[in-house]
Amino acid sequence: MATHDAPALDVDAIREDFPILERKIGGDVTTPGPDEGDDTPLYYLDNAATSHTPKQVVEAMTEYYYQYNSNVHRGIHSLSQEASVAYEEAHDRAGEFIGTDKREEVVFTKNTTEAFNLIAYTWGLSQLEAGQNIVTTQMEHHASLVSWQQLCEKQGAEVRYVEIDDDGRLDMEDLRANVDDDTAMVSAVHVSNTLGTVNPVSEITDIAHEHGALSFIDGAQAVPTRPVDVKAIDADFYAFSGHKMLGPTGIGVLYGKEHLLEELPPFLVGGSMIRRVKFEGTTWEDLPWKFEAGTPPIAEAVGLTAAIDYLEDIGMEAVQRHEEKLAAYAYDRLSAFEDIEIYGPKTDRGGLVSFNLGGVHAHDLSSILDDHGVAVRAGDHCTQPLHDILDIPASTRASFYLYNTEAEIDELIDGVDTARKLFA
Ligand code: PMP
Repeated sequence: MATHDAPALDVDAIREDFPILERKIGGDVTTPGPDEGDDTPLYYLDNAATSHTPKQVVEAMTEYYYQYNSNVHRGIHSLSQEASVAYEEAHDRAGEFIGTDKREEVVFTKNTTEAFNLIAYTWGLSQLEAGQNIVTTQMEHHASLVSWQQLCEKQGAEVRYVEIDDDGRLDMEDLRANVDDDTAMVSAVHVSNTLGTVNPVSEITDIAHEHGALSFIDGAQAVPTRPVDVKAIDADFYAFSGHKMLGPTGIGVLYGKEHLLEELPPFLVGGSMIRRVKFEGTTWEDLPWKFEAGTPPIAEAVGLTAAIDYLEDIGMEAVQRHEEKLAAYAYDRLSAFEDIEIYGPKTDRGGLVSFNLGGVHAHDLSSILDDHGVAVRAGDHCTQPLHDILDIPASTRASFYLYNTEAEIDELIDGVDTARKLFA
């Protein structure tokens, strides 16, 4: 289904599933949770950092803890078998959600960051050679950028950063110019968490493959907000986090093509990831468990399945359409202020808008917005080199999800207007 044909979301009904959206704020923040001083409605526009969790996800996790909490893979007893079934189902559901039907290709990690570290340590230390290069972009999140930087320092390889143009889109000519036959990996973010830019990840992967290089796409902002098909992209590796897609913290996914994961050494070692341990040496478990050492995030996997069920019920085309509508609305309203600079492309963007209000530090703006109940992110959003290029110390980012409304963006605009007057 094309995104523009997708049905509009029933946001009122969706919001009923998220009790936290009823929260008021404004009182004591030194102890967690509501208190008597809370009197301001919450307008939560920080979804690119972490999304909220619907009742269905919390209930699935509660049921796990109340009814079949147990360790997986080791027990013959009933609870352990039930937990194992749920844990493996989570691999399958997460795989299907991004277009693979192979459980072997879906490794649970703690988050996107760990997925990058996993590949940097396993593939990088065993296969990247001195004199080779990794091509990534100026708009990468630190999760990928620092992983590649550290790896290349260790291996005597070079990291190359593809430039962005004045609109905040990737300069594809520069990408083509940087990838050569010494390139071992091309790594790009699918949707930039700062610029909102949606990168042409299939084309990027094709360019990598033309030169015999691998591709690793950072899907942390893409998988929660749009349909993703790793097979259509032909990515070799792809990563995302549960907590940005209505799921719990503590679980993320590394997708990798089976034959590539097969040939990698393990990342963390210990229990669960071994087939046979002898004093003389050890052999490894099959995929994906070879990369899942120790007790895995079982409750979190159950929660991730419930989050995927929730998103699939709504339909990812409809989620994408809603995101794009809110981003366009926010972009238009913010650009009505002459003293606001917005970063990233005007069109074809993900559901977030980063900006600066002339002369006001993002932290001050964010603090005034908090007084209005508007939760946004202020800082460098883990893209410091990108902020260096934009020549700004920080920016304010409003990011939207399926439960957000235009009325909440109006609250953002009111708060920004108050800040303008205050600092005028
Ligand atoms: N990549 C991108 C594009 C992100 O937005 C984020 C989270 N801000 C990450 C990676 C890292 O995700 P996590 O903190 O869940 O590891």
